[in-house]
Amino acid sequence: MNCIKVGRLIQSLRKDKRMTQKELALLMNISDKTISKWERGLGCPDVSLLGELSNILGVNIEMILSGDLNPNEQDEGNMKNVKFYACQSCGNIMTSTGASSISCCGRILESLLSKTENDEHKITVHEIEEDYFVTIKHEMSRDHYISFVAYISYDRVMLIKLYPEQLAEVRFPKMHGGTLYMYCNRHGLWKYEKKKLGLGRVT
Ligand SMILES: [Zn+2]
Ligand SMILES: [Zn+2]
Repeated sequence: MNCIKVGRLIQSLRKDKRMTQKELALLMNISDKTISKWERGLGCPDVSLLGELSNILGVNIEMILSGDLNPNEQDEGNMKNVKFYACQSCGNIMTSTGASSISCCGRILESLLSKTENDEHKITVHEIEEDYFVTIKHEMSRDHYISFVAYISYDRVMLIKLYPEQLAEVRFPKMHGGTLYMYCNRHGLWKYEKKKLGLGRVT
């Protein structure tokens, strides 16, 4: 969070609502000194206050966090555009649904490009009760293994981390449609479309 940008945005939204710092503070049950501190960029709102703040100011939390009323185009936040990032140094895994700059261990990470299934990176999906049971035919040795499997549905990302010596299998709760991804530490990201997998119907 860039507190200076966030503070400026809070101030301009508050003024749009024709509220004084005191009035906003009263609504939020905090001191007007806190509001003044935010607006001067001397501190960012606590995460626990963001929900209420966004309600009162009439913008979503992401906008407050970005400190900018012109974030990505609506569509860029769509789950279809989910991007994965993997840090080669520490193994950290991150996702984003829009344009973003993600860094880890002091380096900017490029989003992973996905490939489609080949013989060495194959996924099988079985429906077991309320779950999709996903098995991957791939070795799980220390230097070559599947490091995560993710299931993207229209409104969520479910990501399961795997480690060497584990079995390459995971379970996801069944949802309508979606796309599966898996990440091999040597060969990168692999994508499996729902149609291929017979992963339920798209509503
Ligand atoms: Zn890292
Ligand atoms: Zn591989």
